[in-house]
Amino acid sequence: MEKELLVNLKKVQKNIKKSAEKAGRESEKIKLLAVTKNQNLKDIKKLRRTGFNSFGENRVQELNKKNKKLNDSNLNVNWNFIGHLQTNKVKYLMRMENCKMIQSLDSLRLAKEINKRAKKNKREMKVLVQINIAGDENKFGINPDDAGSFLHKINSFDNLNIKGLMTVLPYLDNSKKIRNYFKEMKDLFDKLSAEVVNLDELSMGMTNDYKIAVEEGATIVRVGRAIFGEREY
Ligand SMILES: *Cc1c(COP(=O)(O)O)cnc(C)c1O
Repeated sequence: MEKELLVNLKKVQKNIKKSAEKAGRESEKIKLLAVTKNQNLKDIKKLRRTGFNSFGENRVQELNKKNKKLNDSNLNVNWNFIGHLQTNKVKYLMRMENCKMIQSLDSLRLAKEINKRAKKNKREMKVLVQINIAGDENKFGINPDDAGSFLHKINSFDNLNIKGLMTVLPYLDNSKKIRNYFKEMKDLFDKLSAEVVNLDELSMGMTNDYKIAVEEGATIVRVGRAIFGEREY
């Protein structure tokens, strides 16, 4: 099992490199986030023990639980929060020094709360603004047409460090459509970066589509199943 996990990790890293080269991009600039939702702790520990230290979770309670157990094993893990965040749960994330970034900033109300709690904890929180690029009713995120004014508004928040954009696509069985949405994200990223605020990170691509995402300009890919295997429920 341990071996398989490492084989999986290497395979994903190799694919990222290949896709980057195909697109003429530097692969060193592309970061891999291992998504641990519904994955067992044993595998997370194994992965961490290899030195890998970039993990993502989408629920606060689950993140707290895993983090405590990892700390008990003397494993300090760097987390990115990637799921829809309720304002009443922001305080828990802000107390976690090792929660390094919130990738799923999707409302002004949430931005205000993160800013307030970050200030209280004397820290700056790195955030990505989640964009609902496909206009999917079932997905969270800012409408791409509103992204400029949204960034303008939160740019003055002292304890927010706006690092970039993130998107989650709906399930699509069509790689051309997937690629088009990623292209739209990259265009939006470049436009906002030039016109509103400098952005470094573009988080897009999961197990099914991270290779396309890398070809189209992702700087962070969020991969769960291709590393850990199918989720356990
Ligand atoms: C679950 C999840 C992922 C990873 O999905 P896989 O299909 O397991 O790679 C990435 N991003 C978000 C926001 C997720 O919720």
